[in-house]
Formats: sequence, C-alpha cells, structure tokens
Amino acid sequence: MAPLAMTITAELHALQEIDSAIDATRVSLVAIEEQLGETEELIAGRQALAERQEALKGLHAQQRDLEWQVDDLRSRLSPVEDKLYGGSVRNPKELSSLQEEAEIFKAQLRRREDELLNLMVQVEDGEAAVREAEASLVELERGWQQQQQALLGQQGRLEGELVKLEEKRGQQSGRIDARVLSLYDTLRERRQGRAVAKVERGMCQGCRISLPMSILQKARSGLDVVQCVSCERILYLS
Ligand SMILES: [Zn+2]
Repeated sequence: MAPLAMTITAELHALQEIDSAIDATRVSLVAIEEQLGETEELIAGRQALAERQEALKGLHAQQRDLEWQVDDLRSRLSPVEDKLYGGSVRNPKELSSLQEEAEIFKAQLRRREDELLNLMVQVEDGEAAVREAEASLVELERGWQQQQQALLGQQGRLEGELVKLEEKRGQQSGRIDARVLSLYDTLRERRQGRAVAKVERGMCQGCRISLPMSILQKARSGLDVVQCVSCERILYLS
C-alpha cells in the first residue's frame, strides 16, 4: 500500500530532518579526522625518551674515557712499582725518587677512580630514567592505539550512516518540486542549515517570534509554503 500523501510542509520538514542529520554526521566526522594521527602527548613521550637516551650516551662516553684514563695510569704505575719492589734498584736516592713517582701516579689513580665511581652512580640513574621513559611510552602507545582503533571504528560507522542518509535525501528531495526545493536550499544556506521551523504555541521556533493569526491559519493547512515574517523560514505545524 502506498503511504498517505504528506503535505508539502511535512515533506520539507522530513527533508530538513535528514539534512540536519547529515550536517551533524559531517561535523562528527571532521571531529574524528582531527583526532586521528599522532597526539602531542605521544610526540612528547618519544621526545622525552630520546633526550634521556642522549644523556645516557653522553655518560657512557665519559665512563669509557675515565676507564681508559684509569687503565693508562695503572699501566704507567706498574713498571715503577716493579722497579721499586723488584730489588734491582738499591740506590736510596733512586728508590726515593721512584717512591715519589709511584705516589704521584697512585694519587692520580685514586682521583680518577673516585670520579669513575661517582659517574657509575649517574649512569645507573640515567639507565633507570631511560627505562622509565620507555615504559611510559609503551603505555602511551598502547592507549593511543586503542583510541585510534575506536576512532576508526566510529569513522566507519558514521561513513556508513552518511551513505544511507544521502540515499534517503535523494528520495525525499525527489518528492518536492524544484521551485520549492530551490527556496529550501537558499534558506538553508542563509539560515545556518535550518530552512524549516516548527511552530509551537503560535511561535516560530526558528526565531521565537509570535506569528500573526493570518500566517498561522495559512501554515496550518500545510498546502502551500508559508514563510516566517521575521526569519523567512518555512513554517511547519505538526
Ligand atoms: Zn521565524
């Protein structure tokens, strides 16, 4: 059975409902697109990790340098001590000079070894900081992935809805004659997407003005397009 013929204003109101749904869906899609891609939080997390890795690299380089200096001092001290305790040198003057030389090396060695110990503590702290940044980045990436998946799902669903709505719009606009449709399109452009306004308690819901009785009577019949005297929207009485 064919549906009962609707009045022209009811047809226009139905079209308006579809168009408003299309507009809202498009707004949601734009909002989703803006949220797709890397977030500032994620970029900051990567940056923090890179900075800590760089700092640790610097500490490792200092460590290698100090280790090299310690090895060098040990290898220079060793032949002096061999001579000193080997028994081959008996001259007291020469012995005391060797003694002095060994003490100088030992003092340098102690200083470098202390520096190395301090540095090892810094290296451990630096390694802990890198591990911490890695763990929080993993956490951030996991949350981000989930969020992106959810957004992509939502995007797909909305795109599907949009296709259906466009289809419905095609059918609905086909039921309205071209002259009225062109007025509707012009008003939609001029009035933030809303060309049709409901009338409730004698008031246009588009601009809240109280409508004159003559206009209300004409609009009530629904047979012809009646526009609001103030905002020009097409009036619809349900
Ligand atoms: Zn109005």
